Amino acid sequence: MIQVQNLTHRYGDRVALANVAFEVKKGEIFGLLGPNGGGKSTLFRILSTMMVPTEGRAVIAGHDVAREPAAVRRDVGVVFQSQSLDKALTVEENLRAQGHLHGLSGAELRDRMARAMDRLGIEDRRKDLVETLSGGLRRRVEIAKALLHRPQVLLMDEASTGLDPAARRDLSRHVETLRTDDGVTILLTTHILEEADRCDRLVLLHQGKIVVAGSPGELRSRIGGDVVVLESTDPQALAAGIEQRFGIRPTALDGRVRVEIPNGHRFIAEVVEAFPGAIESVGLHKPTLEDVFVRETGASIE
Ligand code: ADP
Ligand code: MG
Repeated sequence: MIQVQNLTHRYGDRVALANVAFEVKKGEIFGLLGPNGGGKSTLFRILSTMMVPTEGRAVIAGHDVAREPAAVRRDVGVVFQSQSLDKALTVEENLRAQGHLHGLSGAELRDRMARAMDRLGIEDRRKDLVETLSGGLRRRVEIAKALLHRPQVLLMDEASTGLDPAARRDLSRHVETLRTDDGVTILLTTHILEEADRCDRLVLLHQGKIVVAGSPGELRSRIGGDVVVLESTDPQALAAGIEQRFGIRPTALDGRVRVEIPNGHRFIAEVVEAFPGAIESVGLHKPTLEDVFVRETGASIE
């Protein structure tokens, strides 16, 4: 449904995207995960036809985003990073205004509004002013608005930023319903790990490059076993000591030493004994997408 081929974008001399390529299948929930400055919004602006890429191309539902922007806009609903609702209007008034932009009116518009509100669970708030709604509800109104013209594809840029975990889960549930019940293909960008974990597939974007791609499970399974995190007053020295003694290469990051190891609990006993007094605290967890990101880039996401 979406094909991105060798996409490069530069702002002056700054390379924001470097030779990015991936495909999104129909009915997929696809994530672009990366830290601030990774290039997510740049890619998003290109896909939503707001900007033409420096090189390469992207095709959505058979239409080239640079050459056939009007056709692409008919097939795509867009939720931008910055909110786009009129807070002084009600939910219903915001949707109606959007419908008029798409040339909809009368019974047809009423039907579509009812359906979009039903999908996002906001019918009971239709008469409420947007300024009285929580952040999570506002996001749902934005999505309803983006769906009024019945696009096959929904693009969302950091839609859950600023929401608490409960509101984020709620939003994910609605997005899942859109895919399952309506077959909408969804591409979202995020720097939030749990949100990325709920995607079918994702790419990790770092400094404009795709560092790794796959399903969340596939990505996590690249790290065999456990991740052990050690806090130390001198992480560099501890990392060097561990490398010498155990023949494994840890990462020292943000005052901590991270070790990927098949048998975490056994390693913990050995490392504590080997470096008495050097370790302030010890943690053990199963690999997360953050671990994958750290492993591939040496940097952390948040
Ligand atoms: P993200 O959305 O992942 O935070 P962006 O796509 O916004 O990343 O930014 C990618 C890179 O491009 C960053 O280095 C950012 O500073 C730069 N950038 C983004 N927008 C502009 C712009 N309009 N002009 C110049 N540089 C920009
Ligand atoms: Mg952004």
